[in-house]
Amino acid sequence: MPCSTNDELNALVKEAKKVLQYGKVADYIPALQKANAEDLSAAIFYPNGRCISAGDIEQNITLQSISKVLTLALALMDCGEEKVFSKVGYEPTGDPFNSIIKLETSQSAKPLNPMINAGALAVTHLIKGESVEERLQRLLDFIRALAGDRAISYDGEVASSEYQTADLNRALCYYMRKDGIIDEDVEELLDLYTKQCAIQMDCLDLSRVGLIFAMDGRDPVREKQLIPVEVARLCKTFMVTCGMYNASGEFAIRVGIPAKSGVSGGIMGSVPNRFGIGIFGPALDEIGNSIGGMKLLELMSEQYDLSIF
Ligand code: GLN
Repeated sequence: MPCSTNDELNALVKEAKKVLQYGKVADYIPALQKANAEDLSAAIFYPNGRCISAGDIEQNITLQSISKVLTLALALMDCGEEKVFSKVGYEPTGDPFNSIIKLETSQSAKPLNPMINAGALAVTHLIKGESVEERLQRLLDFIRALAGDRAISYDGEVASSEYQTADLNRALCYYMRKDGIIDEDVEELLDLYTKQCAIQMDCLDLSRVGLIFAMDGRDPVREKQLIPVEVARLCKTFMVTCGMYNASGEFAIRVGIPAKSGVSGGIMGSVPNRFGIGIFGPALDEIGNSIGGMKLLELMSEQYDLSIF
């Protein structure tokens, strides 16, 4: 039985909130420090269009690393698998999401996977368009279609706060440019990437995007295939193997669903053929995942038997 009432979800959120005291909001992007560490909200979107929620689900959250799934989908639709995987690999790293070490030590020059920063930068590089504006516009149009929300945009303050402090991502770009993985102006790529990470939506929209992946790219409400099946499956597989950074293995055991987190405290979950999940809880654990969100998903998985394994 899936979680089916607001009351049930509220009870789980209340229980999960007990761990918030052990978390901390991200501070390496200065604008993210403004978030309230006590927040934890969640929405679930079902294929029949019904949704349930708990907490303040109307506040906007920036996608941060959750955007990596969406740019991967668009780049695959733009350029095809062969081109994308000539620039990025398939394997989990076991390192923090912003680590540079494997670029130097692994045999191939390619970043290991599209869910770490290096891999995501290589994927964003592939988004088609004549200018940063056009590429961003195409990405926004794609995300608006997935969420069914024309109002989705990016938070300019968060984007410029990250851009100004993005020296590690800058270093990743230069490293990859040296090896020919990317060949565009690094500042332009960072401009696009930081705006991509600052795209914002509320938990309800996030759960709706999660549902599209859960349904293999099809929007069951509008009865439209928005992402090709094979692209949606590929993205979901990366969500399982690399979606929660270097906690993906433990998450697969404790929760067992395709999911992707971001340092804003967002988590998008896709329970295959059942429902999409959007969570916002800005207090993070030491790896950078929403501490309350992880707990909530664990409780949901236990109670509603969500594991795909
Ligand atoms: N914008 C963030 C960064 O590149 C995204 C990282 C994340 O959410 N883990 O550092």
